[in-house]
Amino acid sequence: PFDVLVIGGGPAGATAAIYAARKGIRTGIVADRFGGQILDTLGIENFISVKYTEGPKLAASIEEHVKQYDVDIMIQRAKRLEKKDLIEVELENGAVLKSKTVILSTGARWRNLGVPGEEEFKNKGVAYCPHCDGPLFEGKHVAVIGGGNSGVEAAIDLAGIAKHVTVLEFAPELKADAVLQDRLYSLPNVTVIKNAQTKEITGTDKVNGITYIDRETGEEHHIELQGVFVQIGLVPNTEWLEGTVERNRIGEIIVDKRGATNVEGVFAAGDCTDSAYKQIIISMGSGATAALSAFDYLIRH
Ligand code: FAD
Repeated sequence: PFDVLVIGGGPAGATAAIYAARKGIRTGIVADRFGGQILDTLGIENFISVKYTEGPKLAASIEEHVKQYDVDIMIQRAKRLEKKDLIEVELENGAVLKSKTVILSTGARWRNLGVPGEEEFKNKGVAYCPHCDGPLFEGKHVAVIGGGNSGVEAAIDLAGIAKHVTVLEFAPELKADAVLQDRLYSLPNVTVIKNAQTKEITGTDKVNGITYIDRETGEEHHIELQGVFVQIGLVPNTEWLEGTVERNRIGEIIVDKRGATNVEGVFAAGDCTDSAYKQIIISMGSGATAALSAFDYLIRH
C-alpha cells in the first residue's frame, strides 16, 4: 500500500506529493489531468517571487518538480473512497488503490447556469474563462452572467476586447468589491442589468442572444449578442465523496487547521476544501500542511 495517496494534480496535490515524497515515504498521485485549473489560466502575477508567468508554463514546471521525486503518477479519475483498515480509493478503470493516508485535492470547476442553450452552445458562444476565450469575441457584443468579483473582473477584462459588455446580475446589487465596481462603471461600453434572471441562451449554430426575466416586473427581455460568459462561481469536485467525507452546504470538504477531515487518515487541501480563499499559493500552502499532517499521523499509527 501507499503511505500517502494524493488525489488531484493541481497546485495543492502536486505540493502535497512533493512534501510527502521528501519524507521518503511511499507516495502516489492520482489525477485526471495534471496541472488543474492553472491549465486554463493565462497570466499569473501573484505567484510570489515570479513577477509574471502563464498557467501552462507554471503547470509544466510543477509537473517537472513532482517528477524529480519518487512519486507514482497515475492519470485516472477517482470515483469512490472507503475507510477500512487501510483507506481504499477506487478508480474509474476499476482498480482499487490502498493507502495508509489520503490527501484529497480535487479542486473545483466552473458552476453551470443550468438554462436551455447553455450546454448546447458550449464553445459555440458560451464560455467560462475570459482569459482563455475573451479574444474570440473581439469587436462583438457579449454578456457576463454574475456580478461577483469574478463576473466584474471578467466584464472589465472583456470590455477591452469586445464592442459591448452587458453584465446580468440576479440580485438587486452587484456583489463585487467597490473598487472593481467603480472601475466597471467607469467604462463606456458596459451596461449593468440587475434583478435579471437568465432564462435561455438562444442561437442557431452558435449563440445569437440571451433571454432574461426582470425579477421586479416579471417582464421578459431579449438581447442580441454573440457570447455569454458564465461567472457564477466554482463548484468543488467532491461529489464522489458523498456519504464518506464531511462537506459543507456547498460541497466543500471541511478541514481543520491541519488539513484533517472527519475521516481518520484522510486530509484535504486546496480549492476542494472550505478554505476562505482560492488561490495558487494558498492551495500550495494547504497541500504542504496536509502532507506534513499525514506524515505526523503515520509516525503515530
Ligand atoms: P485544481 O487546480 O482545481 O486541481 C484539481 C486537480 O484534481 C486537477 O488535477 C484535476 O484534474 C484533479 N481531479 C479532480 N477530480 C478528480 C477525481 N475525481 N479524480 C482524480 N483527479 C481529479 N489563482 C492565483 O493565485 N492567481 C491567479 O492569477 C489565478 N487565476 C485564475 C484564473 C482562472 C481562469 C481560474 C479558473 C483560476 C485562477 N486562479 C488563480 C485560482 C487557482 O487556479 C486555484 O486556486 C488553484 O488552481 C487551486 O488548486 P487546487 O490544486 O486546489 O485545484
